[in-house]
Amino acid sequence: MPQNTTKKRVELHAHLGSSVDPVILWTIAHQRGIKLPSKDYWDFEKMITMAPDERNTTLEEMDSKYFEWTERIQSSPEGLEVAVHSVIGGGYRKCNIVVQELRFNPMRRNRSGERDLDHIILASIRGLQRSLLEYPQVKAGIIFSMDRRFSYGQNEIILQKAIKYAKDGVVGVDIAGPYVAEFSMESHAPLFAEAKSAGLGVTIHTGEEGSIDEMRYVVSTIKPNRIGHGILAAKDPDFLGELRESGITLELCPTSNLKNSILKDVSELRATIRAFADSGVKFTINTDGPEMYQSNLAEEEAFLLKENILSQAEIDQATAWAFDATFVRS
Ligand SMILES: [Zn+2]
Repeated sequence: MPQNTTKKRVELHAHLGSSVDPVILWTIAHQRGIKLPSKDYWDFEKMITMAPDERNTTLEEMDSKYFEWTERIQSSPEGLEVAVHSVIGGGYRKCNIVVQELRFNPMRRNRSGERDLDHIILASIRGLQRSLLEYPQVKAGIIFSMDRRFSYGQNEIILQKAIKYAKDGVVGVDIAGPYVAEFSMESHAPLFAEAKSAGLGVTIHTGEEGSIDEMRYVVSTIKPNRIGHGILAAKDPDFLGELRESGITLELCPTSNLKNSILKDVSELRATIRAFADSGVKFTINTDGPEMYQSNLAEEEAFLLKENILSQAEIDQATAWAFDATFVRS
């Protein structure tokens, strides 16, 4: 029986760069002959995971400090296959995750064009399919993340690959990455429209930091199925109503928000999540990356319960919404 619980769980928001067990990345790095800054495993584990008292001051810091290494190690067909495979099986064994969506940016795994993108993608699909063969109780899918720091043309390539591999286990698209001034959500709108008409699920990282205006635009005009984070909306009662009416489901990642200093403490987290719960906005509970943040779905739930942020009934409602909102349909 899976550890922790018999409750069936759904993870909708986990980045591959922050979801792979450090032991597995350590082995991949050595198999591939990657020079690491230390020859001691424990230094390595410390380098790619966050200790309980550790905080990033910005999302940029998180990305450059941790993803830099994990993405480099995962940047080969062999590494990617093992990485994807390990997360799906691990989620089932540790937390009874029976629906797992895993997201990554294939173009940040091909060593700036040195590796062929299709080889990289097919390796991730092999990892997915192997895990489904081993754990037939689980359903899983891959989301391709575009990046705010990429050009429109680069992101368009990622979308086209998602459409190409939709029949093989790619279930949706996302846009992620630290907020940069040059990025325009408006100019990327056609990509999301194309994703929708191709039958892909659309989720967008927005309302995590920066201005709420972008999130307003996303909700009113792009109308994605889901939003990653979206926590800025909690401060605006009128917008909460609009969000509820839109039917968009939020992917909340409580520990990640604290670790990245997006929310300053537990009381701010409580006020944020209560605003959604009390206004009828649909939300789900996720990790953003269990290994890097040293968390998992069962622990996220226990934390919300212990801190009187959500009741057990509200947590179970969030799980039910996650089953409804998943892009994995078969
Ligand atoms: Zn995220």
